[in-house]
Amino acid sequence: MMVDGKETVQQVFEAIEHAEMFLIGVGTECMPVREQTTVLREPFLADCEKSRFYEELPEEHEVLRAYRRLSELIGAKPYFVVTLNTDDLIYRAGFEADLVVAPCGSMRKLQCTEHIVEAAKIRDEILTQMQGGAKECEDGWQALAVCPQCGRRLGFHTIKNPDYLEEGYLPQWNKYMKWLSCTLNRRLCILELGVDFEYPQVIRFPFEKTAYFNQKSKFIRINKKFPQLAEKLSVQGINIRENPIDFLNRN
Ligand SMILES: [Zn+2]
Repeated sequence: MMVDGKETVQQVFEAIEHAEMFLIGVGTECMPVREQTTVLREPFLADCEKSRFYEELPEEHEVLRAYRRLSELIGAKPYFVVTLNTDDLIYRAGFEADLVVAPCGSMRKLQCTEHIVEAAKIRDEILTQMQGGAKECEDGWQALAVCPQCGRRLGFHTIKNPDYLEEGYLPQWNKYMKWLSCTLNRRLCILELGVDFEYPQVIRFPFEKTAYFNQKSKFIRINKKFPQLAEKLSVQGINIRENPIDFLNRN
């Protein structure tokens, strides 16, 4: 692990201190790593386990600690969070759902081709039935994975779902756009945490553009794999090559 010098870290904290408002982008480097214990051949069942893993993540887990630290650093200043993650952990760390948008969806929710429903009850029923392990149970889960409103087959409400219902996040996205338009000429601190190039049009590119068009802003990129900054941001930008969870928990 490469750790940047004290001066760079100091600059990050000065930028945070000096900021009037925060735009925060969260990417996959901030997701908790789950060690797979059992091998389920059906992807939907593996997702059920993943969904429960996120929900049951203990409060002292490093990801939740890092998010709480972030919330503490922001304090009472205005913010908006855009997250590419579907683990919903940001909501458990003092961030308001009203000020977060998750365009890639949520592992707490299931959807058919038309309705979005809470996952917990259906997911847990399926996992309980699977625990039996008997042949008839393995087939039986399919009868449980149906929409309570229309009876169609359910899948998780994430961008990986071919029928992904974008209306799930669009109201929040509109709020975000409105919020963003109020940041012009303000001392905006743009914090980009562990965002890769899978969906660069959601965070990486527009955040750089926001920084570029607001000369009073500061752009902080903390990223273990892709910390490089565009040259046009060399004055406003600070980059740190480290996993953002480690960075937040260390400083
Ligand atoms: Zn339905």
